Amino acid sequence: MTKIKAIKGDITTLDVDAIVNAANTSLLGGGGVDGAIHRAAGPELLAECKQLHGCEIGQAKITKGYRLPARYVIHTVGPIWRGGDHNEAKLLANCYLNSMTLATTYNIKTIAFPAISCGVYGYPIAEATEIAVNTVKKFLTTNSNFDYIYFVCFNEDIYQNYLSAIKKYSAD
Ligand code: ADP
Repeated sequence: MTKIKAIKGDITTLDVDAIVNAANTSLLGGGGVDGAIHRAAGPELLAECKQLHGCEIGQAKITKGYRLPARYVIHTVGPIWRGGDHNEAKLLANCYLNSMTLATTYNIKTIAFPAISCGVYGYPIAEATEIAVNTVKKFLTTNSNFDYIYFVCFNEDIYQNYLSAIKKYSAD
């Protein structure tokens, strides 16, 4: 059975099959986790990203991990929070669904997600973490490819929200 775990730390240090990047539509780098991933992976990552011609909100694209311990980086673009009635929840769920769907085609067994849209994109943390956990759980009901799913938390508040969401959905 797939294990789902919230962990604290820096996603760029994880030795997993794939880490997910909370990118922007250009896929050409940015701040936050995106900047950290590009810095750690080295310039080869940007070179490969340039070939991808961007990514739409909710979609996902894959590259190699280069100097990262992770073999692959899955780049997905979260929605910017605009009050909640601009399809944000569906688009955020799509980030998790499309990242996992892509991962299965690369035989990825361990995957680590950052808290997509929870930084500068301003998504309310409680809602975002519930969507993340619920969407991943639903996906796993029809897919048993994964050994581990990690939710990587860069601060205590997000970590606590993930723990609550995991507890809430653990009965499902
Ligand atoms: P977005 O634009 O999707 O909101 P951000 O990168 O601004 O993306 O933030 C997404 C989340 O990633 C935030 O919770 C932020 O604290 C976190 N984060 C930033 N750097 C790292 C890192 N090196 N490892 C894991 N999480 C990180």
